Amino acid sequence: MTSFDVIVVGGGPTGLSAAITTARKGLNTLVLEEHPEIGHPLACGEGISADKLFSLENMPKPNENIDKEALRLQNQGSFVERAVNAQRFFFGTKGVATANISTFTINRPLFDKFMAKNAQQTGVELLLKTQVIAIERISKGLLVKTTNKDHTANIVIGCDGPSSHTVRMMGLHPPAEYVQGVEYKIQGIYTDALDFYFNFKKFPSMHYGWVFPKKLHTNIGVVVKPASKPMQILREFIKSLNNKEIESATVVQKIAGIIPASGPIPKNYSANFMAAGDAAGLTNTIFYGGISIGIHSGMLAGQVAIEAHEMGKFNEEQMVKYHEKCQSSPYTDPIIQHAHDILYNKFTANEVETFGSWVDGWDITTLNTFQKTRLFLKALLKPTMLKKFRDARIIAHGFSKSRDWGF
Ligand SMILES: Cc1cc2nc3c(=O)[nH]c(=O)nc-3n(C[C@H](O)[C@H](O)[C@H](O)COP(=O)(O)OP(=O)(O)OC[C@H]3O[C@@H](n4cnc5c(N)ncnc54)[C@H](O)[C@@H]3O)c2cc1C
Repeated sequence: MTSFDVIVVGGGPTGLSAAITTARKGLNTLVLEEHPEIGHPLACGEGISADKLFSLENMPKPNENIDKEALRLQNQGSFVERAVNAQRFFFGTKGVATANISTFTINRPLFDKFMAKNAQQTGVELLLKTQVIAIERISKGLLVKTTNKDHTANIVIGCDGPSSHTVRMMGLHPPAEYVQGVEYKIQGIYTDALDFYFNFKKFPSMHYGWVFPKKLHTNIGVVVKPASKPMQILREFIKSLNNKEIESATVVQKIAGIIPASGPIPKNYSANFMAAGDAAGLTNTIFYGGISIGIHSGMLAGQVAIEAHEMGKFNEEQMVKYHEKCQSSPYTDPIIQHAHDILYNKFTANEVETFGSWVDGWDITTLNTFQKTRLFLKALLKPTMLKKFRDARIIAHGFSKSRDWGF
């Protein structure tokens, strides 16, 4: 049995970010990952905000040199696949709102591998093929039982993704709701924007469908309600795009995963423990992006772990500081969950289309006073929608809050 200052469960972006943060300050840090390879299996649309990619601490930087391992995966360039400066939001057939956010599509397995390499260079010990099966309290810290050796630590950071077991092992409540995401990676490029389709008339079980251009491929996926048939909906969604080339394109990879959809879990800490990223329900529940949020929340957990070691205090009083830091971060703003509830649960398909027709042609993430006034005037002309005017404003507000932290 080996003792560590910090054990991180999960070698995704959240866990690697937490580990980089603590190892950088000299804490003896171990990452445990159940899969044999970092970045696999892939479950991601691979879209990310350029602002976050360049500004967020612990993000791998796109200009890092490619090493042999990376070259094996991708023969040219870095993990950045394509710079995309426009987003389009299709609301049924009635309106197309836009956003001009600088984003990238990435090669996510490569991205995660860059983070892992950075973590190891910082001094992190990384154990693959090691699944955490139990966490027990001992007199000094936590005992982490795995499919291989057991380890102890003063602090465990649970970054084990959407179906987190560490959260349950520590007696905390996991996210109450999830959505399912499925995607085909197809050969060829069919759009120059990140396209989002909100088509509730045709697809009542779908939250949205996406078409993201990469370097040589396109990611086409759907996020659907639980207990619906994701692959069938994806195939129908592809047909609904009315593009014969897309329909006949070679599918090079099929991807599936779940995403927390109920917002941050009510309590993400206990003595000696913090949960971050998807494990703590920290995703944007309008667009379901979680890479940047995971990297940021992992960093916050790492910072609190450092402070705890400096003070020699690992009790709840210390760990609550992490919860407070998360709560004051923009991605936990309740307006995002509120907008999610209205868009996906409260508005009818007709109301979503009407909303789309109101914002047609506008950058929905930066509505100005003139546009807000026009929105109100349009609502005045349609008495059934006047009552929904506040809700429409909340959706627009949620979209604008998601500018940096959506994907
Ligand atoms: C279809 C789909 C499309 C998406 N598209 C986007 C997008 O375009 N942009 C975006 O920002 N986000 C997207 N997301 C969300 C994003 O992928 C996640 O938010 C992100 O991966 C969260 O990172 P994480 O490190 O918290 O969790 P994960 O990436 O899930 O990493 C958790 C790690 O923990 C490991 N693990 C789990 N249990 C154990 C255990 N008991 N012991 C040891 N290891 C364990 C897992 O193997 C995994 O490697 C998408 C998600 C899906 C499903």
